[in-house]
Amino acid sequence: MQWEKDAEQAVAKVPFFVRKRVQKRVETEAQQAGADKVTMEHVAACRQHYLHHQEDEMQGFTVESCFGQSGCPNRIGTGKDLTKRLETLLRAHNLKKFMQGRVSGPLKLHHEFRVTLADCPNSCSRPQIVDIGLISASLPRLSDAPCSECGDCLAACKEEAITLAGPEPGPQFDWQRCLACGQCARVCPTGTITQGLTGYRILLGGKLGRHPQFGQELSGIFCAETTLAIIDTCLAHFKAENSQGERFGDVLNRTGFAFLVPYTLKTA
Ligand code: SF4
Ligand code: SF4
Ligand code: SF4
Repeated sequence: MQWEKDAEQAVAKVPFFVRKRVQKRVETEAQQAGADKVTMEHVAACRQHYLHHQEDEMQGFTVESCFGQSGCPNRIGTGKDLTKRLETLLRAHNLKKFMQGRVSGPLKLHHEFRVTLADCPNSCSRPQIVDIGLISASLPRLSDAPCSECGDCLAACKEEAITLAGPEPGPQFDWQRCLACGQCARVCPTGTITQGLTGYRILLGGKLGRHPQFGQELSGIFCAETTLAIIDTCLAHFKAENSQGERFGDVLNRTGFAFLVPYTLKTA
């Protein structure tokens, strides 16, 4: 849908973490009014509605993702779209009702449990600063196909995680540097580097606010099933340990990560 410039500018001032949702809401407002273009009138109507019905609009959680599925060339193909399954899982935990029982007064946006997925380590959707952040990951794997030493993988790796000067012919990986972006496997013309393990990196307890912190990353790359199981465990822990509606990061700062055994945090 088209937007008039002033309407677009007004929504651009909305904090980034709710901007997408507000844009969608304003477009719905315009559609319901039978308009084919969004104007300031629709923005104002939406604002009024939102101020009076904020809690009604909330579902207690958000699941957001980057623009990878719209055709971003950096997207790591992890097979299935996880966002629908995440929504189903979060809905089953009835977080809105839970938070209503923990917070005095009406719920506000910052009370929602936020899960964000980024389809590659570029992390455009900022998974580091939400309750649970997921980053699609693809580890490279060496095949038996001989390396032509063309250097394309070196040029593609922004982390300088590949060398060709090892004792054996072909590429060597520095796994401490590798971010599992999958670019080296994409460019290798001989198939020497192929796609290995794919899945998700998981970051827990990120937040903004008065005491911002990045989410802490679990060690490993997890398949969709394990990722959902870990999130389910996290949600149960969040609900069991949350007495005043605090963020997941605050709960984790107090309780630590022992509840997640056998998973451990990634070391620097
Ligand atoms: S996070 Fe990666 S896949 Fe997603 S939009 Fe950004 S660059 Fe593209
Ligand atoms: S997956 Fe990405 S970071 Fe890792 S070695 Fe390949 S290009 Fe470098
Ligand atoms: S891109 Fe493939 S063929 Fe070229 S140097 Fe790297 S591993 Fe060897």
